[in-house]
Amino acid sequence: MHKEMVKTKLNIVWFKRDLRTQDHLPLFHAEKEDIDYLCIYIYDPKKIAHQSCSLRHLQFTYHSIIDINNNLKKFSREINIFHYDSVKVFSYLNKLYSISKIFSYQETDVSSFWEIDKKVSLFCSKKNIKWVEYQRDGIIRGLKNREKWDKMWYNHVSVPIIFNKFSNSTIKLKDNPFQLDIRLKNKMTNWPSLYQPAGERFAHTYLRSFVNKRGEHYSKYISKPNESRVSCSRLSPYLSWGNLSVKQVYITIKQCKKYTFFKRSFNASLMRLKWRCHFIQKFEMECEYEDKCVNRGYEKLQYSDNNELINSWKNGTTGIPIVDACIRCLQKTGWINFRMRAMLVSIFCHHFDCNWKNGVYHLAKLFLDYEPGIHYTQFQMQAGVTGINSIRIYNPIKQSKDHDPDGIFIKKWVDELVNIPSEFVHEPWLMTDLDRSFYQINEQFSVPSIDIIKASRLARKKIWSHRTDNIVKKENLRLIKKHTRNFKSI
Ligand SMILES: Cc1cc2nc3c(=O)[nH]c(=O)nc-3n(C[C@H](O)[C@H](O)[C@H](O)COP(=O)(O)OP(=O)(O)OC[C@H]3O[C@@H](n4cnc5c(N)ncnc54)[C@H](O)[C@@H]3O)c2cc1C
Repeated sequence: MHKEMVKTKLNIVWFKRDLRTQDHLPLFHAEKEDIDYLCIYIYDPKKIAHQSCSLRHLQFTYHSIIDINNNLKKFSREINIFHYDSVKVFSYLNKLYSISKIFSYQETDVSSFWEIDKKVSLFCSKKNIKWVEYQRDGIIRGLKNREKWDKMWYNHVSVPIIFNKFSNSTIKLKDNPFQLDIRLKNKMTNWPSLYQPAGERFAHTYLRSFVNKRGEHYSKYISKPNESRVSCSRLSPYLSWGNLSVKQVYITIKQCKKYTFFKRSFNASLMRLKWRCHFIQKFEMECEYEDKCVNRGYEKLQYSDNNELINSWKNGTTGIPIVDACIRCLQKTGWINFRMRAMLVSIFCHHFDCNWKNGVYHLAKLFLDYEPGIHYTQFQMQAGVTGINSIRIYNPIKQSKDHDPDGIFIKKWVDELVNIPSEFVHEPWLMTDLDRSFYQINEQFSVPSIDIIKASRLARKKIWSHRTDNIVKKENLRLIKKHTRNFKSI
C-alpha cells in the first residue's frame, strides 16, 4: 500500500527591508506560534534586474544577513538565502513542508516589486497559506489622504521597542537547490573598505556614536560635504535595509543623555526621521512616481538630454570640481550629504537640461542607502517637476565656496586638483594657462562644461513659466488633496 509522506507543518518569516533581529514584529509573532518557523530571504532575479539595483545593495543585504546568522547561530537559526523567483521559492518550500503562515513586513517599493508580492499573495490564497504582513515604520497601506497621518506616526514611534527573544529551532532546511549563484556570491562577499559597514551590530555602533558624540554638531555641519560625514547620523543605509527600525532610532535619540544639551541638533534629526516616513508614505500611495512626474503636467517638458553632458555627470568628469568630487566620492563610498545630492540633481536637470528620468537610476545605484520611497520624490523635487514644492536651482560654485571653502572635500576626491592653490579650487579655469601647466591641472578643468550663469537663467525661465500650464495647476490641486495635511484650509 502506498503511504503518503506527512509533511512537517511550519511557518515562514520572510525578510525584506527589515534585516535585523530586534524590534521585529514578524519574528515576534512567529515565536508566539505553536509551530516552528523558518527564516528566508529571496534574491529574486526580477528584483536584481531592476534598473535601481546595484552590487553594493546586494553586498549590503548579504552582509546584513551574515550578521544576523552569526547572531542567531546559538539558537540554531539562520536566514536561508534563495536566488530564484519568489513564487517558485514558496511553491518549492510548500512541497517540502506544509506552510501554515508567512510573516513579513509590508514592502513599499516600485510597482514591479509590488507585482511580485501580488503573485505571492495569489499563491498563498490558492494554497491556503495565511500571509500576515505588518506595517513598516508607521507607513500605512491603503491610506486615501493625510488627514490623520501625523498623529498616527507619532503614536507609532511612541510604542515601546520590541525586545525579541528566540527559541531553539527544531527545523533545518532539508535542501536548497536555489542557492546564490556562485559568481554572484563571490562578488557579494567582497566589501570595499570605504563603504560603511553593513549589519545590525554596526548600525547600533553608528547610532550610539551619534547620540554620544557625533550628533552635537549635526545642525552646524549638515550642509558641509566634508564635516557632515561625521556629524550626520549616517544611519540611512541601516534604515533603508532595516538594520534599524525608525522607532529604535527615534526613541534612542529622544532618550539619550545629551538630548537636552543639544536639543536643536537632535530635534533636527528627529524631524528628518519623520520626513523619511512622510516620503515613503507618499510613494506607498502612488508608486507611479518611479517613472512618472509627481505632477503629470511636467511630462510634456522637453529637454536637450545631451549625451556627452549626461556621461560626464555620471562619471564625475564634468570639469566642475564640486560636482566631480561628489560623484567620485559616491562611487567610492556610497554616501554624500543632502545638499550635495540636491545640487547634483540641480546640475543634471537644470544646468545640463536633462530629463530627471535619465539620471535617477544612476544615483539610486550609487547610494548605499537607496530607498525608493525617498529617492524618486526627492529627485523630482530637486528637478522641479512636483509642482507643489518651491524650485531651487543650486549654483555649484556658490555651494562649493560656501560649504567647502578651502576645497578640502574637492581635493580629497579629485586627484587632479590636489596641488591646486585653494583660491582656485572652485574655478580652476580662472588660472592662467601657465599656472595650470605649473600645477599640472589637466584640460578637463580649463573650461567649465557649460556657462553656469546662463544655464541657470534659462532653466529658471523654463521651469517657472511651465508652472502656469493648465494640467500643472489641476495636478497641484490633486496632489495637495492627496498628499498634504489640512488640505481643506488651502
Ligand atoms: C536627490 C536625493 C535623493 C535622495 N535619496 C535618498 C535615498 O535613496 N535614501 C535615503 O535614505 N535618503 C535619500 N535622500 C535624503 C537624504 O539626503 C539622506 O537621507 C541623508 O543624506 C542620509 O544621511 P544621514 O543618515 O546621515 O541623515 P541624517 O541627516 O542624520 O537624518 C536622519 C535620517 O532621516 C532621514 N532623512 C534625512 N534627510 C531626509 C530627507 N531630506 N528626506 C527624507 N528623509 C531624510 C534619513 O532616513 C536619515 O537617515 C535623498 C536626497 C536627495 C536630495
